[in-house]
Amino acid sequence: MLKNDMLEQWDRESFFHPSTHLAEFARGNAPHRVIRGGQGSHIEDRDGNRLLDAFAGLYCVNVGYGRQEIAEAIAEQAKELAYYHAYVGHGTEASITLAKMILDRAPDHMSKVYFGMSGSDANETNIKLVWYYNNILGRPEKKKIISRWRGYHGSGLMTGSLTGLELFHKKFDLPLSQVIHTEAPYYYRRPDLSMSEAEFTAHCVAELEALIEREGADTIAAFIGEPVLGTGGIVPPPEGYWDAIQEVLARHDILLIADEVVTGFGRLGSMFGSFHYGLEPDLMTIAKGLTSAYAPLSGSIVSDKVWKVLEQGTDENGPIGHGWTYSAHPIGAAAGVANLKLIDELKLVENAGEVGAHLNRAMAEAVGGHANVGEVRGEGMLCAVELVADKETRQFFDASEKVGAKVSAALLEEGVIGRAMPQGDIIGFAPPFCLTTDEAEEIAGKTAKAVKAVLG
Ligand code: PLP
Repeated sequence: MLKNDMLEQWDRESFFHPSTHLAEFARGNAPHRVIRGGQGSHIEDRDGNRLLDAFAGLYCVNVGYGRQEIAEAIAEQAKELAYYHAYVGHGTEASITLAKMILDRAPDHMSKVYFGMSGSDANETNIKLVWYYNNILGRPEKKKIISRWRGYHGSGLMTGSLTGLELFHKKFDLPLSQVIHTEAPYYYRRPDLSMSEAEFTAHCVAELEALIEREGADTIAAFIGEPVLGTGGIVPPPEGYWDAIQEVLARHDILLIADEVVTGFGRLGSMFGSFHYGLEPDLMTIAKGLTSAYAPLSGSIVSDKVWKVLEQGTDENGPIGHGWTYSAHPIGAAAGVANLKLIDELKLVENAGEVGAHLNRAMAEAVGGHANVGEVRGEGMLCAVELVADKETRQFFDASEKVGAKVSAALLEEGVIGRAMPQGDIIGFAPPFCLTTDEAEEIAGKTAKAVKAVLG
């Protein structure tokens, strides 16, 4: 590990960090942190501080840090064949095996896997496939994509448009005109507090129907959603939501894209969020948990229904004009194969369900009674604590108070990483699946301390 006194200066002078206040960072007013190692649920910075990473990086190091099996698979692949492309029918043992392993785990009606590098590019692929699909079917007007406010689907031009968070649109001239947003299934923030969950679901469905009516079903190609809203605040859907939404989509011949970048490969205690909530997607997006982030790799899983049309399209038009140099990169694929094997061997999906439920219970007990905790919610190994100025009215804190960021900083002081989510004062938790019940209790106990330190 490079350790020299210039590192901080080089960092502030040279490194354009994503999702960072650039000016404050360059001025030295925002933290610079160098991480040098990790083991299980913990990481270590270069000053030797050991931190419990209750967000698994960016909810991606699902098997935990320091897994030698994956590191060795990567090293072996790099030594044998670091790269070959996947164009015009090429592949490697690892990429072909991984495609088969993914389909073995996915819903039965899924047919093929296209590999990319990131969740954003996989969603970009999925939108292009949807447009291609409708062009081949002779429906060139059916192109708009419905996404939800508070959805997160990436930060490219199209995917940043799909993302329903203001920060990702402001000053970037987004969203693009083909993207339209509908109500977030956010029961805690329902428009009328007297609504039951079922009534709120009916409200979300009515909003969707009204949007389709206004725009015209003939102009709408697809609906994209995460089974559980992630970066928008870690919000599980209200009762009956996905069944009711899918009924509307089917009636209007609108494809469903399940963005499983966070929920795929076990985070909810099921292999996919689609199984958890009964989604039958036409396309699925996977990334993060596919390799547990040991190497960058993503995928678009295509259903039989869409695949048949893609085949028709290439019969009519020649090879599909879509591909990245690094599609199905052998090193990513080798990491993916080793990662999925490890998840099975260590029964990590089951552990995510069990210890995740423990974390949610412990968190509710530890902080639920605090005057400024509006809600503790979660599903599987996802948990969120929403902080409010007034519990009765659910009023937000003034954004300038940065309460979420302060609580997350206080938690870091306690040695635990929880993420201040980008919109609202919400502290998110998405630990590695190997978390123990003792670690779950430590996260909850230290969160209580951090909330008290900031809010009394
Ligand atoms: N989709 C979801 C649900 C995500 O949470 C993310 C990233 O957090 C993405 C897509 C984008 O993935 P990436 O950051 O790898 O481009």
